[in-house]
Amino acid sequence: MTEKRQSFGLVKFLNLELPTWQADVRFRGRSRLIACAVLETDAGLILVDPGPTSTLKTLERALIPLGGLRAVNDVVLTHIHLDHAGCVGQLVANLPEVMVHAHPIGARHLINPERLIRSATRIYEERMGQLWGAILPVPASQVCAVADGTHLQVGGRTLRACYTPGHASHHIVWFDDAAGVVFAGDAAGMRIEGADHIIPVAPPPDIDLIAWEETLSKLEAESPKRLFLTHFGLIKDVEAHLHRMRERLCAWSDAVRQSLDDDYESDAARAADFHESEMTYMNASVDIAYQEPYGYMGQPRESWYGLARYWRKNLT
Ligand SMILES: [Zn+2]
Repeated sequence: MTEKRQSFGLVKFLNLELPTWQADVRFRGRSRLIACAVLETDAGLILVDPGPTSTLKTLERALIPLGGLRAVNDVVLTHIHLDHAGCVGQLVANLPEVMVHAHPIGARHLINPERLIRSATRIYEERMGQLWGAILPVPASQVCAVADGTHLQVGGRTLRACYTPGHASHHIVWFDDAAGVVFAGDAAGMRIEGADHIIPVAPPPDIDLIAWEETLSKLEAESPKRLFLTHFGLIKDVEAHLHRMRERLCAWSDAVRQSLDDDYESDAARAADFHESEMTYMNASVDIAYQEPYGYMGQPRESWYGLARYWRKNLT
């Protein structure tokens, strides 16, 4: 049975009485870019960060051995960036019983996605549709605005919400204390399971470096046994990972801040320079088998704009 499920793109990573699965949604037709966590409960499935609409068909197929989309009871979001949550409106369109849990700021944008679409269009321009697919509103009756510290209890499983701003002001990590894992979204950066390299993905519009430092301290203080990263998979050396994530974030923020003082003809040139040097460093640090997913998902250029925006707001 396990093999059969694997052929659907599902990998069991916590083999408890109520198992947890990793569904590789194969963003842009590639593996190890975006992972949705699928939690079995006695009342149906919980999906953590189901991904964009462009990969919803793949997710649907991955869920077949677990009962398909109809088996979904709840969708839990770390944040509403399109690579994590773009599909939610489409996903719940025919599932009126499913509840979507998000930070109050994120909840507002799920119900009225116009601003989210506008700001993403500024970044992705004509590639919006191809990358993310349609972004539909979620009915207000199906959105639950989550308070910090909320315990979500579903069919014998409990998830604890913890506000973790930094990557986004509305970021939440979800602790499954019984399973010893935290679904970390992007709060602990990007790292492909099996590799060591960490990319502190920092896109516009609301990077906050002080808040992000505090988030990393909060995670360190909780010292969970494992982290599950959307990009991509299970991390077991949590302490070392968080330590290196902090170093990487500092290095990136310093480099971007410095570039603002340096003589360039434009921001595009600053971002291009940063991108190129980070890609060179990544290619030197990472085994060839991992270079493709890091290259596709890491996008240092985009993070230059996120960090530059932070510094320009905070250095005046
Ligand atoms: Zn994000």
